[in-house]
Amino acid sequence: MIIMDTEISQENIRVLSLEAGRRIINIIAGNCQITLKKGQGLDAKFIFISNFYKGVRVNIRVAFLPISSKLDKESALFEAVLRIHGLNKVIDFKYIGFTDDKVELLEKSYIHPQGLIISTGPTGSGKTTTFYAMLKLLSQKKSSIITIEDPVEIELRESNITQMNISEDFGYSEAVRIMLRSEPDIMMIGEIRDEITAKHALIAAETGHLVLTTLHTNSSLSIFGRFKSLNIDSGQLFSVLKFVTAQRLYNPLCPECKKRIGSEKLPSIYRYALEENLKFTASMLSKTNMCNRFLDFKEVSCFDSVYVRGEKSCDNCGGTGYVKRKPLIEIAEFNDAVKEEIYGNMTALFNLSSLEEILMNLSNFESLKVQSFNKLINGEIDPVTYFNLSK
Ligand SMILES: [Zn+2]
Repeated sequence: MIIMDTEISQENIRVLSLEAGRRIINIIAGNCQITLKKGQGLDAKFIFISNFYKGVRVNIRVAFLPISSKLDKESALFEAVLRIHGLNKVIDFKYIGFTDDKVELLEKSYIHPQGLIISTGPTGSGKTTTFYAMLKLLSQKKSSIITIEDPVEIELRESNITQMNISEDFGYSEAVRIMLRSEPDIMMIGEIRDEITAKHALIAAETGHLVLTTLHTNSSLSIFGRFKSLNIDSGQLFSVLKFVTAQRLYNPLCPECKKRIGSEKLPSIYRYALEENLKFTASMLSKTNMCNRFLDFKEVSCFDSVYVRGEKSCDNCGGTGYVKRKPLIEIAEFNDAVKEEIYGNMTALFNLSSLEEILMNLSNFESLKVQSFNKLINGEIDPVTYFNLSK
């Protein structure tokens, strides 16, 4: 059983023993009047339990996952993941762990009275938490806000925010239709999954609303291909698009116990991949004005050493070698200069390296790949974390 604090950093705050976990799962299942049967999980339907923790009211979202156990076929049938979502805490970008320059860009991105802002990233990348921070910020401007979520993860108490829950009988496209009729200033659509929802989101953005949504893509710049597969006209999308973000969470190395090793000690497959990435990133940066922003990077021509986690017990990190998770975000700003450049050559939307080059030269775009490379060179992350971030 794993308990996670998702509101802050998605850090695992406690892993319980098998026996303690079993007892708690049975208590929760009993209280929620759930009968857990072998082979069945509740990984799609979440159960919320409200409680108080250190004086703060929290929601605990429980997902039961069926597992197989070779050791004990009768009793070890389920794993439960408890995610804690606070209700009272003020969430802001700084608190989540974004650096000052990213906070500035994020705050700037939400001042638009209308248009489309898209957030991409895999499940568990912290993008929902970022959205909630954004909604808190926007609600201070007294705008009327409606959200559609599946499910509502954090209840927001602001009177100008209405949150709608998606269910089996009440899908995204129907909820978006109701939302449009209500004429809010700002709409948050949990996820664009189909053509109808995508079309409604664009209509809303074209008719004076600010629309925030998420999309399942690998990178922020691949949204154009994804929208095309939903039969959305690229020109129509491009005309309302303001910002696209891609987010990941990563574990920085513990500064107290990390150690430097010669790159010859790395497995050859890693060493080869790092050298290839170095060449690729260097050639990408050389085409742009980005080198000035990455002075440390400029000095590196090959990898002679890297930092890895320490092996000895360390009080600072409890011997794990890593410290509290942090978010990493790339923000693609489609400002006037970028738009003007791309309107001259719309095919650039489907050529990721051309698009990246335009964004790097005409906005503050720093891809996840470039940022994580810089972190590797600066010894903030190890090669394993780097490859996970730059996938
Ligand atoms: Zn340490």
